[in-house]
Amino acid sequence: MPDFKINTTDEIDAAYNTLQATFRAGTTRPLAWRKHQLNQLVLMLRENIESIVQGFSVDLRKPPAEVLTGEIGPVVRRAIQSAAQLDAWASDESPQVREWQRTWSPTILKRPKGVVLVISPWNYPIFLSLQPVIGAISAGCPAVLKPSEIGPGVSSVLADLFPKYLDPSAYRIINGGVPETTHLLKLKWDHITYTGNGTVARIVARAAAEHLTPLTLELGGKSPVIIDANTTDLKIAAKRVLWGKTLNAGQICVAPDYALILRSAQDAFVEAIKEAAVELRLDGALASDSYSSIISDGHYMRLRSLMTKSLGNVVVGGSTDDAKRRITPTVYRDVKEGDSLLEGEIFGPLLPIVPVDDIRQAIEYINAHPHPLVLYAFTEDAELKQALRDETKSGGLHFNDVVQHMSIDTLPFSGVGESGYGSQALKYTYDEYTQLRSSVDIPLASSVDRDEPRLSARYPPYTPATTQV
Ligand code: NAD
Repeated sequence: MPDFKINTTDEIDAAYNTLQATFRAGTTRPLAWRKHQLNQLVLMLRENIESIVQGFSVDLRKPPAEVLTGEIGPVVRRAIQSAAQLDAWASDESPQVREWQRTWSPTILKRPKGVVLVISPWNYPIFLSLQPVIGAISAGCPAVLKPSEIGPGVSSVLADLFPKYLDPSAYRIINGGVPETTHLLKLKWDHITYTGNGTVARIVARAAAEHLTPLTLELGGKSPVIIDANTTDLKIAAKRVLWGKTLNAGQICVAPDYALILRSAQDAFVEAIKEAAVELRLDGALASDSYSSIISDGHYMRLRSLMTKSLGNVVVGGSTDDAKRRITPTVYRDVKEGDSLLEGEIFGPLLPIVPVDDIRQAIEYINAHPHPLVLYAFTEDAELKQALRDETKSGGLHFNDVVQHMSIDTLPFSGVGESGYGSQALKYTYDEYTQLRSSVDIPLASSVDRDEPRLSARYPPYTPATTQV
């Protein structure tokens, strides 16, 4: 395992200057060069699966199956697709214009914005770090990636691999914590992508504002799941929701945060949750190698504190292992407004069930809180589906399962309001780093007989005839 080495401010400045020079020199612009870098990124992952899995086991004791399916697999797939589609994305576009403007060659040029800063979190450190890097490469932008210091295992593997596969004059890892990120944020970037929590997002947004740097913010929040017991199969709903809390031990921005259900259906849903917990063998989660640990002592103690303070009744789980920083997926019933579990995003394997008196109350509850990253609902009621489409706001809207929308490469992934702004996935990421540069080329040669007479109306002195609309 490579050591986790924090970069100095001199190294940060040197990397920044190198990347700026590379961009100015035009190195990153040829499409063939970009495709080569994308292929190198694919190779980097495919040839180093073992060390990446090892990095994850240091940080999260993450099951290798989850590393392959949720991290390496999607990045490889999206890098390959980006390379395949790059010619189409990057080609100039000719907009529709009025007949007499055709000779002006109006064109939309796709131009790289410049040098990009990507600041990523620890919870999906390969996917969330490399998806923006794929976008930057595709768009022809050099990039600095600052992975999370809270997951030093994967961050140090990335620092070791980047210079072996990617052009170091264009793609660099900077490792460090708050001081190093603060230094990075003082520099003038052409775009910043930050994935993480809303508090730090505000620090990043303030720093970006100093230079008027455009920003993509991928944030989190409390993603609700509505269980409409009248029309849904509770067994399937319970199993799918519980799975959403076991995956990466609930440390995923799109995990269902809390469940809203009619009070009269709560008993039946709790029974279904208990059955699902047996089926998923969650009583063995503390020792299971199909289950992740909590990332750090700080996050583990935060979750333990939520458990201690909650006034909800535990219906499954509740056990913990301090040495391994493990928490069995734990479900609470009869959780009320004001409970510790309903304060902030849980980001761990705890699921509060919040009973409501009717489904309108569920919609009102959601609308009274910040717009979530995803809104989940298990329902076959067409009217309820339409009401959720029309009357609520969220980054994504997902019926009858959880997290699964992430597996569709062509859907834009984004938050809204406090869950963030800007979109990612394939061309959506490419677009974040691409400037649409408008261009016209009005022919001088034909001006005398064509354009100049027609344009004469714009010159003063104005007359009523020349100012008609
Ligand atoms: P984190 O603590 O690793 O922070 C993310 C990044 O911010 C790191 O690189 C870190 O170094 C940097 N950072 C931390 N403090 C900073 C400061 N004071 N100044 C500048 N930079 C600083 O990760 P996290 O925030 O705990 O991640 C979890 C959050 O991210 C959750 O809210 C989750 O919902 C959200 N998230 C969102 C997405 C998404 O795509 N929308 C994906 C994953 C996680």
